[in-house]
Amino acid sequence: MMKSGTDLLRNWIPDFLLALALVLVPLILPRLGFAQDTINLVLVFGLFGIGFDLLFGYTGLLSFGQAAFFGTGGFVAAYLLVNLHFPSVVLALLIGTVAASIVGALAGLVALKRTGIYFAMITVSIAEMFFFLENSPLSAFTGGENGLAGVPAPKFYLGFTTVTVGPGWKMYAFLATFFFIGMVLARRIVTSSVGHVLVAIRDNALRAAAVGHNVKRYKLLVFVIAAAYAGLAGGLLGVMQGYMPPDAFTFDTSGQLVIQTVIGGLGTLFGPLVGAAVWLFLRDFLQGSLGLGAAWRLALGIIFVLLVCFLRRGVLGGLKDLVSHWRKPAHLASDAHATRAEPAPDAAVAVEPPAAAPRTRPNGTGRTEPILVASKLSKRFGGIVANADIDFSVEAGELRGIIGPNGAGKSTFFKMLTCEISSSSGSIMFQGQDVTRLDVTTVCQLGMSKSYQVNQLFNRLSVRENLTIAALARLRGAFRFDMLRSALKVPGLVEQVEETLSLVHLRERAEASVSELAYGEKRRLEIGLALATEPSLLLLDEPLAGMSPSERADTVKLLKSIRKGRTLIVIDHDMDAIFDLTERITVLSEGRILLEGNPDEIKGSSIVQEAYLGGVHE
Ligand code: ADP
Ligand code: MG
Repeated sequence: MMKSGTDLLRNWIPDFLLALALVLVPLILPRLGFAQDTINLVLVFGLFGIGFDLLFGYTGLLSFGQAAFFGTGGFVAAYLLVNLHFPSVVLALLIGTVAASIVGALAGLVALKRTGIYFAMITVSIAEMFFFLENSPLSAFTGGENGLAGVPAPKFYLGFTTVTVGPGWKMYAFLATFFFIGMVLARRIVTSSVGHVLVAIRDNALRAAAVGHNVKRYKLLVFVIAAAYAGLAGGLLGVMQGYMPPDAFTFDTSGQLVIQTVIGGLGTLFGPLVGAAVWLFLRDFLQGSLGLGAAWRLALGIIFVLLVCFLRRGVLGGLKDLVSHWRKPAHLASDAHATRAEPAPDAAVAVEPPAAAPRTRPNGTGRTEPILVASKLSKRFGGIVANADIDFSVEAGELRGIIGPNGAGKSTFFKMLTCEISSSSGSIMFQGQDVTRLDVTTVCQLGMSKSYQVNQLFNRLSVRENLTIAALARLRGAFRFDMLRSALKVPGLVEQVEETLSLVHLRERAEASVSELAYGEKRRLEIGLALATEPSLLLLDEPLAGMSPSERADTVKLLKSIRKGRTLIVIDHDMDAIFDLTERITVLSEGRILLEGNPDEIKGSSIVQEAYLGGVHE
């Protein structure tokens, strides 16, 4: 009871502070030289930017085409109000928002087929098409170059009286209400499971998909959310000005949004609001007070270059850095804690033994049945045959080793098994199901997971957040729409993360960010990410690579401790480790299976000696 009370408080305090700040703005900002209309416009761009920050700051999707949705929402709402004499402004705004979302979904389906600069280019092109449509073919509806004038003010019938939201502070209150709701919702989204997945996509989309999240769908979801915020803000622009301008659709509008968000601080939600305030204040100040006329853009450009050079994380990022600088003493203490030598895994085990029953899903197959069967599996990269006709099967509960010289095709084989890449021919059966043509996300959801030869972590997040992302995929499935529910409320999440932290001996380092970890710790987290998805079959691609002898010994112990209740396949170069760890070994050479047998058979084989061991292993 107590706890939920404090949780409630913690949840609502920022909302309360925001409401208070919005109430205080009319008292403070005008004294600093902000014009009334400027403050209102800042709110509109602040709201527009919340969605964009979710898209770019949180998910890493840089769109230069947000004007398409801003304009769509704006013109749909304005058209309903001006031409169809819609009675309710709020309803018109909501319909505009829905229209922008639908357009966003269609545009997203196209743009999200590509990533990076190509994605950005598609968004620009889409926005340009919309600008053209608004100006020419649809000018009968949109007023073309003239835009739509005469957007009516909102009216509220309160029974005994009618309140008309005229310009000035009444309009401010109207806009601030929408901004407040928009911010409260966005803060919920950010702390929800969906918010965690978005950040994971930004940091490492490949791994987010590999631990079992449907990355494509989440990207589309956030694209639609951003379009909805844009559409609402566009509608509010028309209502605020009593006029819907055609330049809502221009590239300038999209560009201004990007710059304002970056200036204010990415991934903060408030960044665009701050950035818009800086931009619009400077515009007024340079044009008006300093009387620079058209040269204001030159001055603005210089100021922005300086801002971006000296405040690389934006105004809010800079403030955050300043605050953490002041708190340095506390910080140093935690750093000291962080760099303290970690107890050897053995010691950790002694303090907190791993859970008695490891969390894996039931196989549905007995120990005697193979959990995995690959038949005639091949992979060609152009002329290179990386894998050729591999027949391979593993029993449930086995700990299988795979060895072979560099370039033998081991990693490629694993990538095919987990459907990270498609096979050129052959088939893969996992737990009696044909998975050959599935994708990596589905296969992970079915219970097969891999740790990578080269670490694939979520580098800007903490150890705990990394494991949370993997555990969420297991607990929620590949896609879920629980955007307004805190991730902490997902049943079993905290336990599963704690358990994985113990299994890979990273409890002490749970709050450390990945960049602070030692190499061996990163390798253990790499294994932890795969483990947190509770696989029944775990593939480990060179888990010992690059480790010191003592780290190797510790990791071998770790692997032995996690095998209970799981099926493991381990690739490694370290012969002694593999001989010590596994009961059965498959030798790959030049993309083919050379031999399969127990450690003694492998050690004694002259073919293996020739192909692989000769000179390497005494
Ligand atoms: P191993 O893990 O055993 O060292 P790999 O599976 O990484 O071997 O590579 C096997 C062969 O396939 C190598 O010759 C490698 O150059 C080639 N190969 C792997 N991935 C690709 C790729 N994406 N494109 C082209 N060739 C590749
Ligand atoms: Mg490899």
